[in-house]
Amino acid sequence: QTAKVEQHHGANRAKPDMNRAVSNSRARLAAFSASSSLASEAWDGRFRLHKPRGQHLLTNPRVLDAIARHAALRPGDAVLEVGPGTGNLTARLLASPADRVTAVEIDPRMVDAVTARFGALDLAHKLTVIQGDAMETEFPKFDVCVANIPYGISSPLIAKLLFGTYHFRTATLLLQKEFARRLVAMPGDSEYNRLAANVRMVADVKLLMDVSKRDFVPMPRVDSSLVEIQPRGAPPEVDLAEWLGFTRECFGQKNKTLGAIFKQKRKILDLLKRSQRSERCTSDAPGTGSGIILGVLDDDGNDEACSDEDGDSGDRAAGFSTEEVGAFKERIAGALESTDLAGKRPSKMSNDELLYLLRLFNERGIWFQ
Ligand code: SAH
Repeated sequence: QTAKVEQHHGANRAKPDMNRAVSNSRARLAAFSASSSLASEAWDGRFRLHKPRGQHLLTNPRVLDAIARHAALRPGDAVLEVGPGTGNLTARLLASPADRVTAVEIDPRMVDAVTARFGALDLAHKLTVIQGDAMETEFPKFDVCVANIPYGISSPLIAKLLFGTYHFRTATLLLQKEFARRLVAMPGDSEYNRLAANVRMVADVKLLMDVSKRDFVPMPRVDSSLVEIQPRGAPPEVDLAEWLGFTRECFGQKNKTLGAIFKQKRKILDLLKRSQRSERCTSDAPGTGSGIILGVLDDDGNDEACSDEDGDSGDRAAGFSTEEVGAFKERIAGALESTDLAGKRPSKMSNDELLYLLRLFNERGIWFQ
């Protein structure tokens, strides 16, 4: 019995094409199974690994076992793996009590490799390989995500998992160590950032263990860390698109005070524009219904200050009168002054404090999405 292979061409289109991938795989199966077995994680060098695609295979069996153990898979579980590569982690997932494993892999050579590796095993019926880009492929329903992902898609993938339409128990992900540290940072830590604030809004995150770069082939430049992300049961009582827009403004200059951030002319004009649009679009319930743009969880790295130079001509260029802009500026200042938050810096604020301020802004007709 062979594993199922599906191909995804572009977004959300499943096009099962067993023949191509499977016959391809068969051709390689003999050569591969002669040189490798389930127990061998080594890389036999049969094709060039592609670093820009994050192709660093995890080859330390103890680490692979530990990842599967941490994932705590149960009978009945549907598992999602992103970027199975040659299947070193997939082997553990298939051997676990979980019912089934879906692996999404972009590189057809890897799809062949993983299909060939498990095609001849009893466990093959548990495995479906989808050939496609994880960012464009609609995932099937899953309970647990376990993956050593390509690090280049860390932030958008986490956004897709947490702010998309999926409901799952945990995601146990191997990530670049620095990224993992930023993900688990707490308010007041020097690395606290937009990504951490946004993820914490909907999930609990935990650092499980560090993994050395020496455990990969080819050896990457960076070390790694295993992280567990556990979505909270109840969705937060906030419009997430509004929240993401708000944290974007706050954490763009996370070490400035809120008073300074929201005094900037360009920011005020920009918010005025957005607020008018929000009120126009959804007069009854502003902010609801608009989709969340994925991949916007993280800092853009633009800590640039908005210039304060453009005067009245800037207002007119933006289509507002000076009075209108002045009144809106007062509204923002009023919201900040009604609390003791104006002197606070986003990097030191809890989500509860940020949420409180967002509500005050919204009550005054100041909208962020
Ligand atoms: N999990 C394997 C391989 C990790 S390397 C292991 O631990 O050994 C990362 C894998 O992700 C590679 O096989 C690469 O081809 C795949 N990949 C890269 N970008 C991807 C994307 N956008 N969608 C799906 N898979 C991707």
